[in-house]
Amino acid sequence: MLIFHTIPAGTVICPVCSGPLDLQDNSLICKNRHCFDIAKQGYVNFLLQAPKEKYDKRLFQSRARVSRAGVFRGLTDRLGEIVRNELERQDLKRRESRSHGLKKQGLQQRERQQQEMQQHQLQRQAAMQQELQNKVLERQARQRGELVQQKVVRPSLGQSPGERQCTAAAILDAGCGEGSHLSALVRHLAGTSGCKLVAAGIDISKAGIQLAAKANPGMLWGVADLAKCPFANGSFDVILNILSPANYSEFHRMLADDGLVMKVIPGTEYLQEIRRALHSETARRTYSNDRTVELFRRHFELVDMQQVKYELLIEQKDLADLLQMTPLAWQAGEEQLRLMQTMNKQPVITFDFVILIGRKRYKR
Ligand SMILES: [Zn+2]
Repeated sequence: MLIFHTIPAGTVICPVCSGPLDLQDNSLICKNRHCFDIAKQGYVNFLLQAPKEKYDKRLFQSRARVSRAGVFRGLTDRLGEIVRNELERQDLKRRESRSHGLKKQGLQQRERQQQEMQQHQLQRQAAMQQELQNKVLERQARQRGELVQQKVVRPSLGQSPGERQCTAAAILDAGCGEGSHLSALVRHLAGTSGCKLVAAGIDISKAGIQLAAKANPGMLWGVADLAKCPFANGSFDVILNILSPANYSEFHRMLADDGLVMKVIPGTEYLQEIRRALHSETARRTYSNDRTVELFRRHFELVDMQQVKYELLIEQKDLADLLQMTPLAWQAGEEQLRLMQTMNKQPVITFDFVILIGRKRYKR
């Protein structure tokens, strides 16, 4: 629960009415009395109704095991490099902006500044209205927050002496499942970056979030609907969406104006050995991500696309988990077993990912 005192005030909002949430005992409560309990494992359930679970706990346990075996390390290391460079870029820009003021550099930047000002004005008006409405509640929350913050050490990512320190950055993994990718990314950044980080993960699956919170108590985990994310506008410097459905309008709303969104989708050769073995005569044998890329581009400017591809020798026990966690194998049934029996003891499996990297379009 201490994690809630490390998050900037106003970041977590009510997914029903968008009002600020106030920490009272073991619950987060808005001014309209919408109440979300903090589970003893430390996560928050932001859903008013429990959805029918699409994925069961075994799937997430399988993914956690293959993740621990290092199967996704190539991907999370690359994501870590991109995030580290981005946070350092954002930090440098903030510092330059503070020390030199904004310099006019041609028409493009002037237009951008005007748009920023309009945006800020709108945000300020909205904020003032909100502030009037919640003046009393906010003051109480702030007093409580400050009191506790004095005792709480903010999570930081391994700053070594003399290393340039970033201001705190916020990162969200939307559709995080059991949290393996986000925790691997945070570990990567801890070893390479001087940035302080607030890391949050949300998923519609309670089973996934329970595992995530249990394994990673230092992060904010929430069971939430991606269509109604419990975070204020512009809360995150980086939003990740890894091998999971997206909600781009919500991503756009929650992303800081200068932030980066990264969506990871399977490349055409992702798990191709399993695909071939299970779906040799069907349409699922091949996979195209063209439509996903097109949809992404409708919402964000696609500034870069990076491929991460590697082959791994997979142990028999990890193959069972890999089959358990991939939609490719769910409908395979007996075929799945036959495949496992006939494949080599240590089959070579291809991991092929494409990272779509986007920014808000009007910022460029
Ligand atoms: Zn509410």
